[in-house]
Amino acid sequence: MNNKDLYAILGISRNASREEIKKAYRKKAMELHPDRNPDDPEAEEKFKEASEAYSILSDPQKREIYDRYGYDAIKNSGNYGAYSDFSSIFDDFGDIFGDLLGDFFGFGRSSRRRNRPRKGDDIWVELTLEFEEAVLGVEKEVEIPRKEVCEVCEGSGVEPGYNKETCPTCKGRGTIRISQGFFSISQTCPTCNGYGEINRHPCKKCKGKGYVYKNKKLKVKIPAGVDTGTKIRIENEGEASTNGGRRGDLYISVNVKPHKFFKREGDDIHLDVSVSFSQAALGTILNLPTVDGKSFDFKIPAGTQSGTTFKIKGKGAKSLRGYGIGNMIIKVNVVTPTSLSEEEKELFRKLAKLRGESFIEDKGTLFNRVKDFFN
Ligand SMILES: [Zn+2]
Ligand SMILES: [Zn+2]
Repeated sequence: MNNKDLYAILGISRNASREEIKKAYRKKAMELHPDRNPDDPEAEEKFKEASEAYSILSDPQKREIYDRYGYDAIKNSGNYGAYSDFSSIFDDFGDIFGDLLGDFFGFGRSSRRRNRPRKGDDIWVELTLEFEEAVLGVEKEVEIPRKEVCEVCEGSGVEPGYNKETCPTCKGRGTIRISQGFFSISQTCPTCNGYGEINRHPCKKCKGKGYVYKNKKLKVKIPAGVDTGTKIRIENEGEASTNGGRRGDLYISVNVKPHKFFKREGDDIHLDVSVSFSQAALGTILNLPTVDGKSFDFKIPAGTQSGTTFKIKGKGAKSLRGYGIGNMIIKVNVVTPTSLSEEEKELFRKLAKLRGESFIEDKGTLFNRVKDFFN
């Protein structure tokens, strides 16, 4: 049986108040602090003991179990885990310890900025494509200035041969404590910005940043079917990480130039065509262009009205979401002829008379025109 006397460890009486326990531990902790006792295993052991004693005695429930049944009861209660027991010390004494307790007891909770590997930043570029390129897909070369890890310092920002130094202001904790009368406030250390280290010998090549900008040429495959607003993500082609993380991603935002004839609407391609009166009335075959530079014959049936649309399946753009291929929508506009020759006019007059249609020509007065309208 282990009869550790936790009260003796902290140097207090068995009926000490919570305030007294706290005070006693603070005093012990300062005295035994590993920063003040470097490479002193005995001080380290005592420091751990005192921390454990505090974690038990500062918790009324655990203190009661300890008072009644002894140290072993606490040890075996299942309530005893390094994490749950020692984390409260942070809340009470985080100011004196900074990172230390986490390192000691195997859990991290501190205000110091950890330099964990972080992913590099993403890069966004805009890419303007011809209409056809967007519909058919294309391979493009883009040139991007991006962060690359500095070869001289390998990203550390420190001139080779030197190291970063522990910040003298905060002693590497990353925070400083400012007392204002009754209160004391913890603040990010202004000397090191919370990193706990300072760089007295910045790398000359990158000026201590750890990265340099380089132009990178990349071949990018643009899939068929993209449109203005499409975003293409290319993994691991963004900015380099300066602390060993993976690269960021490259995002390409597509912008498509308008076409002379074609218009995109989703996966459909619209084409407006014009036919004459006679063609609309009698029917005709038009040779129409496609986006890939070919052409096809399309039949306009006799009697087609102006504004009629025809849908041709499978002649649109490829769907990016895998819905197959869109349609081509052909809209027919019937164009009224202007500047007719005398012979053409005569033919129209004949046609109108044949169909029993009244008409007036430029010479007509306004009165005649109105009368004609109501007939
Ligand atoms: Zn460098
Ligand atoms: Zn500092």
